[in-house]
Amino acid sequence: MTIPHWIEGKPVPSARTATVWNPATGAAAAQVSLASVEETDAAVASAAKAAKSWRTSPLSRRAEILFQFRALLAANRQRLAEAITREHGKTIADALGEVARGLENVEFACGAPALLKGGFSEQASNGVDVYQIRQPLGVVAGITPFNFPAMVPLWMFPNAIMCGNAFILKPSEKDPSASLILAELLQQAGLPDGVFTVLQGDHTAANRLIEHPDVRAISFVGSTPVAKAIYEAGTKLGKRVQALGGAKNHMIVLPDADIAMAADAAVSAAYGSAGERCMAISVLVAVGSAAEPVIAAIKDRIAKIKLGPGNDPQSEMGPLITREHRDRVASYVTNATNEGATVVVQGEQPQDQQGFFLGASLLDNVKPGMKCYNDEIFGPVLSVVRVATYAEAIDLVNNNAYGNGVAIFTRDGGAARQFQFDVDAGMVGINVPIPVPVSYYSFGGWKASLFGDLHMYGPEGIQFYTRAKVVTSRWPDPATSKVDLGFPQNR
Ligand code: NAD
Repeated sequence: MTIPHWIEGKPVPSARTATVWNPATGAAAAQVSLASVEETDAAVASAAKAAKSWRTSPLSRRAEILFQFRALLAANRQRLAEAITREHGKTIADALGEVARGLENVEFACGAPALLKGGFSEQASNGVDVYQIRQPLGVVAGITPFNFPAMVPLWMFPNAIMCGNAFILKPSEKDPSASLILAELLQQAGLPDGVFTVLQGDHTAANRLIEHPDVRAISFVGSTPVAKAIYEAGTKLGKRVQALGGAKNHMIVLPDADIAMAADAAVSAAYGSAGERCMAISVLVAVGSAAEPVIAAIKDRIAKIKLGPGNDPQSEMGPLITREHRDRVASYVTNATNEGATVVVQGEQPQDQQGFFLGASLLDNVKPGMKCYNDEIFGPVLSVVRVATYAEAIDLVNNNAYGNGVAIFTRDGGAARQFQFDVDAGMVGINVPIPVPVSYYSFGGWKASLFGDLHMYGPEGIQFYTRAKVVTSRWPDPATSKVDLGFPQNR
């Protein structure tokens, strides 16, 4: 089977393809189309045509379609979750969670007309009114990662479409099927063909979208090197780009924290989705006497994690995305001892499984400079860095190259408030390990976790997908009209 593109409301395959794996079995599941430059150009041409008429559609009609899409998405959540689990490997419960968070982004977009209102200044000058309107950009594109094949596109296109743009999604070639279910549901909801396009592919399609003159803005989510390259290439061409990159999220545990609660949170946030979340906790910063009890409590909990195929309701942690990625993640644990870290738990590769499984690992005595600290591992590996004081903990976090999510666990409200003030990161959790903002705030990290000015979804998403136009208008009383060659003044 070849997984197609979705262009002008129809599935269209390509001759060039790549293999999509089922990570739970290790077997090839399908082939996915990989768009050429010519196919990308054809998709952009169809989106550009659709964008022209879509921007004339009334806001209430756009909202009506998105409301309908929301209902269809809710009714199809199990089907979507199963497709995600088949290609990504995460558990069905986790995939359902991703769809549920994506639904909230659709709900936000349904109410976005309130944010498109603009301002109005009556009598800015004599008989002159000034107002601002926000207009769509035209064709905009989203390039998305493998780890949230439904939620990350849902961060982007509901707002983009609500604002009157045509949207081209270039999903990850590793788990492309969810994008086609979204396309089909949008069509059923009444979205005109061409307003939403799925262009399957690799860097060829992505790079052509970036350079194509009719693509006005790029939303990217993926690894930091690609995010930076896309940001640089797009902005050099004068385009609007928001490029979200990788992460190394720290969780500080102060000695006064509830240790059982902190351990539950660390295990959930480090090993959920096998650590393949950009908001996963990958470093636990144990302050002072918190270290011994929290490490012991995490070790106990790791022993109980059920590793298995995502479609088995008993499984709590599924496989990693590819064999190469699994082996790369495992190598960080194997090399940790050479770097001077202590391996408290070494995650095993189960002998009876052909899939890309790897158990949870826990490293202690990790320090900056070690590869297991510096690199984004993106797998089920939690590193513990021991520090003596809160001041050392905050220095560690603020000196890290990334600044996506961060968390503190404490019972001290004053310490938490100080932390929120001090920390250099875009999304902060106080006794919350994965502080993904709700849909009416915006999502984005700092430092090497985001290139661009505007965060994704929520109010900043509406700003990103529109541009402002300020109109100065005069409906003068003909009786007061006269020739005046002076520069127009307001007073
Ligand atoms: P990736 O960077 O390999 O791929 C992301 C997208 O870019 C895919 O669609 C891919 O086809 C495309 N791509 C890959 N190489 C390219 C190139 N050279 N030129 C143009 N396009 C290219 O990322 P991934 O492995 O799919 O996803 C995991 C990464 O995404 C992790 O680093 C994770 O932290 C990050 N991520 C970040 C966030 C966030 O919000 N900051 C959210 C999810 C994932």
